Amino acid sequence: SLELRDLTLAYGDIEVLRNVSLQIPAGSTTCIIGPSGSGKSTLLRGINRLHEPKAGDVLLSGRSVLKDKPDALRLRIGMVFQHFNLFPDHTALQNVALAPWKIKRLPKQQAMEIARLRLDEVGLTQRADHRPRDLSGGQQQRVAIARALAMDPEVMLFDEATSALDPELVKGVLNLMANLCQRGMTMVVVTHEMGFARKVADQVVFMDEGEIVETGTPEAIFENPQSARLRRFLSEVL
Ligand code: ATP
Ligand code: MG
Repeated sequence: SLELRDLTLAYGDIEVLRNVSLQIPAGSTTCIIGPSGSGKSTLLRGINRLHEPKAGDVLLSGRSVLKDKPDALRLRIGMVFQHFNLFPDHTALQNVALAPWKIKRLPKQQAMEIARLRLDEVGLTQRADHRPRDLSGGQQQRVAIARALAMDPEVMLFDEATSALDPELVKGVLNLMANLCQRGMTMVVVTHEMGFARKVADQVVFMDEGEIVETGTPEAIFENPQSARLRRFLSEVL
């Protein structure tokens, strides 16, 4: 499980996240929605400490992660971004094997085995020896997901993982994410895909101006929004 307690993040003097508290039970999927600039990416960056919190705490499996080294934390939390940032000179397989080999320091053979399994899970066994430039955007994103999974993370964070993809490639990646959710991965998914949030999320969080405005089941958030801010947001995106 993951828990945020009164998390506050600032860029310089400007607090872009204020007192955010959130419970994410193990094996559940939380979708974060909200307008541009509302702090969704900043929230994810706070969770895996790409940006150090100004105040508050992040608990992973009940224990604060703020005392650990950020690198150690990144072994436990996988992150997938809008831009996949694969290594261009490595094949798909090498991209996935790299972290288990170099960061987890597994023997190379074992890292390659893990990479093969993970590529198989995302349906890319046939593309293992291709370089990123010879893969479609959707395939590259699936390699990026396999790469994160190869570290056996306790939690996966997704930041608009499908927004850079051509429309026809979006569905494959969303289906893969829905599969992960069904298999019990703990996930925090920032997304503009309201259909995905409605169908897959256990919990939907609506953020605006650096705060959580509403949290609830997909039904509560989409069928019965309580705040004017959420109603306005939904009327703009649905
Ligand atoms: P989007 O949907 O457009 O991705 P978001 O909800 O992810 O938006 P954030 O990227 O978290 O929003 O940004 C939240 C606020 O923090 C914005 O006002 C943004 O301008 C500001 N911000 C983000 N990154 C920085 C930075 N490196 N330095 C200063 N301010 C930043
Ligand atoms: Mg963002």
